[in-house]
Amino acid sequence: MAADDYRYIIVGGGLAGASAVEGIREKDANGPVLLIGEEKYPPYDRPPLSKKLWLGKKKVEEIFIHDAGFYEKNGVTLALGAGVTDVDASAKSVRSSDGKQYRFGKLLIATGGSPKRLPIPGGDAEGICYYRYLNDYLRMRDDAREGGSAVVVGGGFIGSEIAAALVANKVSVTMVFPEGYLCSRVFPESLGRAVQDDYRSRGVGILSGDRPVSFGKKGNGFLTVTEKGARLESDILIVGIGMAPAAALAEKAGLLTGDGIVVDEYLRTSNPDIYAAGDNAFFPYQALGRAMRVEHWDNALNQGKQAGRNMAGAAEAYTYMPYFFSDLFDFGYEAVGEVSAGLETFADWQKENDTGVIYYLKDGIVRGVMMCNVWDKVEAARELIRKGGWAAPETLRGAIR
Ligand code: NAP
Repeated sequence: MAADDYRYIIVGGGLAGASAVEGIREKDANGPVLLIGEEKYPPYDRPPLSKKLWLGKKKVEEIFIHDAGFYEKNGVTLALGAGVTDVDASAKSVRSSDGKQYRFGKLLIATGGSPKRLPIPGGDAEGICYYRYLNDYLRMRDDAREGGSAVVVGGGFIGSEIAAALVANKVSVTMVFPEGYLCSRVFPESLGRAVQDDYRSRGVGILSGDRPVSFGKKGNGFLTVTEKGARLESDILIVGIGMAPAAALAEKAGLLTGDGIVVDEYLRTSNPDIYAAGDNAFFPYQALGRAMRVEHWDNALNQGKQAGRNMAGAAEAYTYMPYFFSDLFDFGYEAVGEVSAGLETFADWQKENDTGVIYYLKDGIVRGVMMCNVWDKVEAARELIRKGGWAAPETLRGAIR
């Protein structure tokens, strides 16, 4: 089959891929672009899948990043519904699962990652929802009936958000997760326990310090058996236990990989014609002085755009500090930097475990900031982290209000 030639090929139809198109067009008005996506949908925003779509604050047709006209107007060919299976770095070509082959000048791998699966008996049973994609939302929305029941496995981002979303739709929810309290990777313990108490007061069953050992079918629903012996019947079963970055394609192509695809400050992989951005890119996070991956919306948005600009000749380092956000019933936050419960934390509450700012410090230096029900202060938080320098935790009181 004859290979089609494109100046730019973007593999991955998520936010990073869509943003890369914008970045490319800022520098190159005409170079032909091909965007290849595994899902049948054009790029869409994922945060509403566990938040606004469930609360009636957004409709499905509003989550698409660009309308169909955008791609046509910008000379972008969409090849959807068949993912790329091979990248030949020396021939500068890619092959997709439908057997098509394309040649590129510059390539972006923005393939994100896939939900981790539970390696337990029944872990692959039909109907279990490892929640991540629009199709998952559509299926769960259909199955989530008022008065019905759900088991939600995992107490991180997906678990905590989807549990709140289901409760808002009058579904009775039981959560199962190994840690002592919700969102334990990011919340200090007192906040995690307070948020968990709030969940309980809204009727959410919490089985913390536990984990499923088997899943089975029971009637039209599911039976989850846990390590501590609980037997939970539910109409729906949703699992959110983290994601694995999609690095296999890059690895097979001989690119440097590790925890994701290794890129430099220009978002170039070990092959200068191939870039990576979004959930799967292991990049130098300049303000924190370390390389890492960031699995959040704002990183995909800005990193994708920067990769696109650089593919089109810009040669600009990615120095942006992405933020992330979540809504858990009435508790919402925005956060930036290294927001890890493993660091020392100093909480400056205006209202305890509700409204205030949490500072995350390492050796007395602010590495991350979480603003709880405090809004529009992300830039101030970025400044504080960029400034570096030792700070006695108490001196941070009132730094951001
Ligand atoms: P996550 O936030 O890493 O949380 C995974 C949770 O699953 C943790 O509570 C983890 O506990 C738990 N877990 C691990 N093994 C388990 C087991 N065997 N049984 C029960 N629980 C288990 O991952 P996620 O919630 O699945 O989210 C996936 C991705 O989507 C992440 O990249 C996340 O950043 C992104 N996302 C972001 C947002 C946001 O920014 N607001 C919202 C939704 C999704 P341990 O900590 O003990 O391992």
